[in-house]
Amino acid sequence: PTQNKKLGIALVGLGSYAGGQLAPALLETEHCYLAGIVTGTKEKESVWSNKYDIPKSNIYNYENFDSIADNDAIDIVYVVLPNSMHAEYTIRAAKAGKHVICEKPMATSIEDCKKMIAAAKNAGKKLAIGYRLHYDPFNDQMMKLGQNRVYGKMNIESSFAFNMGNRNQWRAKKALAGGGPLMDLGIYCIQGCIYTFGELPTSVSARYTTINEKNWPEVEGSIDWELTFPSGKATCSTSYEKQYYGHLTANTEKGKLMLSPAFVYNGLRGTTPDGPMTVKPVNQQAKQMDAFALNIINNSKILVPGEMGLRDNYIIEKIYESANNDGKEILL
Ligand code: NDP
Repeated sequence: PTQNKKLGIALVGLGSYAGGQLAPALLETEHCYLAGIVTGTKEKESVWSNKYDIPKSNIYNYENFDSIADNDAIDIVYVVLPNSMHAEYTIRAAKAGKHVICEKPMATSIEDCKKMIAAAKNAGKKLAIGYRLHYDPFNDQMMKLGQNRVYGKMNIESSFAFNMGNRNQWRAKKALAGGGPLMDLGIYCIQGCIYTFGELPTSVSARYTTINEKNWPEVEGSIDWELTFPSGKATCSTSYEKQYYGHLTANTEKGKLMLSPAFVYNGLRGTTPDGPMTVKPVNQQAKQMDAFALNIINNSKILVPGEMGLRDNYIIEKIYESANNDGKEILL
């Protein structure tokens, strides 16, 4: 009934994802729009305000952020900060009476994930994680074909890697990132395995495979892991020291069911034992944010709730635990 009102989103942390993907996507959304910004960099205020027509009254910094509570133009706060800051800003946003989308990984500890879920619940607000691939039609095909076992039994392989040129960034710092590529990229492989099987893993075993130890004093450079599912195995790897590559492959009784590249914003490609996937690409971020806005408008169930972020943070923690114990199998 209130569908004609677009919900206002405020982006928190105007870095490469907010600027490169989310803000442009918010020009395409039907149920929400970019209403405000929260930034610690003074110069970004006027640049963003001019580019996206954001009034002064909707611009905040990290100190005065809590006063967003008094701003009716902002319905949703979208936290796009380094990982270790997700919890604080999600909780502050919920306390300010806002719905929240928090980027992946949800947080850097299970405790923080639980506090975030509780904060949203106490405020009576919704909390979603920025798992855009649940709104991508190629990954959606993978879910449907995999979960329905259209090509029979399967085992899954998935990896996601890139070569990090500049290691001075927060992604290489434990305190800000919480971990290395497992937190940043491997989380997509974990997600992919779960939504292709349509099951939760029952155990995990992992090994650090860092190639050049001296480059990675704080977080792992590379890591491999195996997940056991009720109906098959998944073998995964992720790295900050290999060429860009990301795939999700189910080896089925009838042949390969595969996305490669699987985790990109554009240009995904899917193959099935029957031939190529013929789905139409979408703007993943626009779909994701519109879906959340509709969840709020219709008070409907979120596909990617905080509980899913907590689940994935838990699996990540167990993967590290196994790698820290020479690959010991850990039950989940
Ligand atoms: P960037 O480093 O590009 O941006 C982070 C922004 O956070 C900065 O520009 C800055 O914004 C703000 N910030 C505040 N404090 C700090 C600090 N101590 N160090 C660094 N930045 C700080 O990161 P990304 O945009 O690549 O990633 C942000 C989040 O989004 C991460 O959690 C990441 O995992 C997630 N992400 C998700 C993607 C997806 O596909 N779903 C893709 C890429 C990232 P300001 O100057 O405005 O204060």
